[in-house]
Amino acid sequence: MKYYLGLDVGGTNLVAGVVDSTYKIIAKESVSANAGRSVEEITSDMAEVSKKAVRKAGLQLDDLSSWGIGMPSCVNPKTRLLVHANNFGWKNVPIYEYLEKQIPLPVYIENDANCAAYGEVLAGAAGSYTDAVMLTLGTGVGGGIVINKKIYAGFDHMGAELGHTKLVYNGVTCTCGQKGCLESYCSSTALIRRAREAVEATPSSLVMDMCGYDKSQINGEIVFDCAKKGDTVAVRLIDEYIGYLAAGISSFITIFRPEVIILGGGMAQAGDFLLDALNERLHTCTFAAEVIGIPQVIKAKLGNDAGLIGAAFLEKSMGDGPEK
Ligand SMILES: [Zn+2]
Repeated sequence: MKYYLGLDVGGTNLVAGVVDSTYKIIAKESVSANAGRSVEEITSDMAEVSKKAVRKAGLQLDDLSSWGIGMPSCVNPKTRLLVHANNFGWKNVPIYEYLEKQIPLPVYIENDANCAAYGEVLAGAAGSYTDAVMLTLGTGVGGGIVINKKIYAGFDHMGAELGHTKLVYNGVTCTCGQKGCLESYCSSTALIRRAREAVEATPSSLVMDMCGYDKSQINGEIVFDCAKKGDTVAVRLIDEYIGYLAAGISSFITIFRPEVIILGGGMAQAGDFLLDALNERLHTCTFAAEVIGIPQVIKAKLGNDAGLIGAAFLEKSMGDGPEK
């Protein structure tokens, strides 16, 4: 049996795991990320928590094939620089150097959303597919593309930022500073913003009742639940939300023609209520859908483990050795 060491670096926690060749996590450890600290401190913790997971698995570092890391950042494997990591406030950090001196294994690093898509294709909802596009619909929108069972991240691994593709010209300002990004319309944050505006205009909505008449308590789940119950305001909000989401996904279908679209994150918890309506909308708004059809849209299966499993197997995606 071959073993792989993965690390999922989030803004809140660093989660390390040892995964066997059947994609089963055999040991997992986590530590708080404490994002405000120096590169030395955080990379040292990244190594420590990873070594801890190896010990928990009853293995030695020699038993591991590689160390794969998913980070909320852009990392260029050719220049070996982490170009940008918003959560940590890092820019142009020689990240491989910091990590390689801590753990003597081949190091592979990729964007965390790409790792999540890869994990779902290897071991999760899309296990039997080779080509997939995944969107993680949470407070932001992450995206990943897998082509022929390898992550597609564009030139220098700086692409595949699906949440920041343009959906509306001159639209709502996004967290990235641009206007009209898909994230500004399809994140839970976006739905909550629209719901607050809507109940302001129509306070009789069931949404107000469900949030205890405190608009700050509105969340995506409440809006979906109210729509399921037929509340007019919520139905309109979800219809609009699905319209934007379908518009974004139809572009990804037209460009990549994946076999499957995977939806993860909190908003995907709405399940079939979301998927059925989305499917219907995609049939009407996607190029040549009446001739070619549309890919199946499915819900992600692995939850937070997707990023960890995808990271652990980065060596399979990134080739025979680290790109230099
Ligand atoms: Zn953006």
